[in-house]
Amino acid sequence: MKRVTDDQGSPFTNGRAEINGFPAVLRDFRIEVEPMDVSGLSRFVPDPAWSFTDAQHHFHATSLEDDQPWPTLVRLTKGDGFDDDGRETFVAWSECKICGEQVEPNMIEIDGGNWRRYEPGDVTWSAEVLTPFALELGGGDMVSFRAKIQAKTEVFGVATVNQRTGHQLSLIGVGKIGRRSTA
Ligand SMILES: [Zn+2]
Repeated sequence: MKRVTDDQGSPFTNGRAEINGFPAVLRDFRIEVEPMDVSGLSRFVPDPAWSFTDAQHHFHATSLEDDQPWPTLVRLTKGDGFDDDGRETFVAWSECKICGEQVEPNMIEIDGGNWRRYEPGDVTWSAEVLTPFALELGGGDMVSFRAKIQAKTEVFGVATVNQRTGHQLSLIGVGKIGRRSTA
């Protein structure tokens, strides 16, 4: 579990928070990432041996730079409809940056091997806040949450009340936490 902390290594505490617009004090805020075990799963990676010369004699190949394996190509996508769950689906292709010829770089499948490998999985967030007066909230109620977690960073989102004990609220995030810069 990865715990997001401030520069001192402690959880974010005592920041200003708001619950449904009411002021509150942030006692604890954490984002946890569930590691996903992908040990032994094969995956596709750019083929380091791939190269290709297009009709205009422009040379294309796989670069060793991980973040930009095909520097001579531009990757384009366009929506091509919706899947059964209503999510938009996309088609993607690559073109030569100079002449626009469609070029499909080769990918190779590599064995997962025997080592343990983890990738970031589900992300959950939770918060503990103190309100100056007891809000009329109970377990399961949805609230609007925002809090300052750093000098210039605010988080915001929708949470459900997990538990309320007097002025203390324990919240669990619903969906992703938003982040924004504040002046
Ligand atoms: Zn070209």
